[in-house]
Amino acid sequence: MLRLIDITHGYGPARSRTQVLDRVSLVMPSGQMWALTGASGSGKSTLLNLIGLLDRPQSGAIELAGQRVSGIEASEAAKVRNRLIGFVFQSFHLLPRLSAWENVALPLVHRGIGRAERRHAAMEQLERVGLGDRLHHRPEEMSGGQRQRVAIARALVTQPRLILADEPTGNLDSESGAMVMALLRNINRETGVSILMVTHDAVLARSCDYRVQMQDGRIIQNATGQ
Ligand code: ADP
Ligand code: MG
Repeated sequence: MLRLIDITHGYGPARSRTQVLDRVSLVMPSGQMWALTGASGSGKSTLLNLIGLLDRPQSGAIELAGQRVSGIEASEAAKVRNRLIGFVFQSFHLLPRLSAWENVALPLVHRGIGRAERRHAAMEQLERVGLGDRLHHRPEEMSGGQRQRVAIARALVTQPRLILADEPTGNLDSESGAMVMALLRNINRETGVSILMVTHDAVLARSCDYRVQMQDGRIIQNATGQ
């Protein structure tokens, strides 16, 4: 379960700070797939960065899997992130010099897992996303949809509890986007991992269990997918 309690956040020095998030609270039960929608600049990525422990809220609290994570030290935050969270970004964020399996295995390097075991785990996840025959391809040798599937395999390789996906279909044509979405849905159903996904696509949002809409740093609407 993910719980946000009165999250307020802004950027810049205190005197001239622009407030980006204004008392955001929500409770997301485990195992669900949620869509986060809202106009550009409404604070969606800021919220995902806070949940993903890439940044710390100015006030309020975040609880993840029963642990209060909002106030912890940076080194501890990195460990919690590696253990509980997987990220998927609009622009994939793959390392160009590494092969597909090496990209997928990267989060395991930080866990001190040996190369053979890393490779095995990466292969397993690449097979799950339908890229078992692309282990040695580099990102530039793959289509956008394939790159995003590699990124999803990388997010899964640590067996996280929560996947944060920031416009994962934003750089894809509609066919690849639909495929990535269907893949995320399958993974959610099969593994029970929670997924919080930013999207501008109303059809994709409607296919999620729940939708949260933001406007000017506040949640203005919650709706179930039905
Ligand atoms: P969204 O993802 O919904 O488009 P963001 O969370 O990226 O919105 O941005 C919300 C607001 O915060 C915007 O006005 C944006 O310009 C501002 N912002 C985002 N990141 C930073 C930053 N690192 N420094 C200063 N302002 C930022
Ligand atoms: Mg954004």
